[in-house]
Amino acid sequence: MPTPRFVYFDIDDTLLDHRQAERAALADVVATYRAQFAAHPLDDVRARYHDRNVVLWRRYAAGAISKETLRRQRIAAWLEELGIDLDAAAVERLYMDRYRAHWAFIEGAREVFLTIADHLPVGLLTNGFAEVQHAKLDRFPELRARASAVVISEEVGVMKPHPQIFAHATRTAGTPPGAILYVGDSLHSDVEGGLQAGWQVAWFARNGATEQPPGAFRFADWPALLARLGLG
Ligand SMILES: [Mg+2]
Repeated sequence: MPTPRFVYFDIDDTLLDHRQAERAALADVVATYRAQFAAHPLDDVRARYHDRNVVLWRRYAAGAISKETLRRQRIAAWLEELGIDLDAAAVERLYMDRYRAHWAFIEGAREVFLTIADHLPVGLLTNGFAEVQHAKLDRFPELRARASAVVISEEVGVMKPHPQIFAHATRTAGTPPGAILYVGDSLHSDVEGGLQAGWQVAWFARNGATEQPPGAFRFADWPALLARLGLG
């Protein structure tokens, strides 16, 4: 991996622990509506939400459904599948409120982001709804303050791994693609998309994933990434 001249970071499950915030928010929803969810183990409730959300995001990414449909359906269809009769709009509001309350950095991520930002220009490249992702940057203002580029899929019109969003991010960075490093956790969105764009890719293989995507640098902990950049 040649020394990059610009480093883009993915946000969810790379810098911020999205999955943990989702899990905690769902636990809060279940705790709020204890009687209605009584027949369902929490793990099952979470798995059904997660699976449905993934399918809906895929359909949204393909342009098959709107953002509003995604947001409504992931709660309404999930409640229906569980046989729970609740006002989906109220549950959606509670879920989003609790999701926001649980946002936090992945351990060590803040320090690594700041360390790299001390040495190289950095940016953020994320799939997600603009207002939600901007709210994350408002909550953790160092991210916005240090990033010289913030690229959010809803604002570009396509999601990672679509080549257009990587081309947009490349132009915004003002650096040739081969000199950009992307740090992300998703094999599909980040590794595939980044390599396709001619970027260098550092795949954050959390939780012991052992695949070795050809052409990508795999790391399981932050010191390994800093060492690879000569910053360790
Ligand atoms: Mg991610």
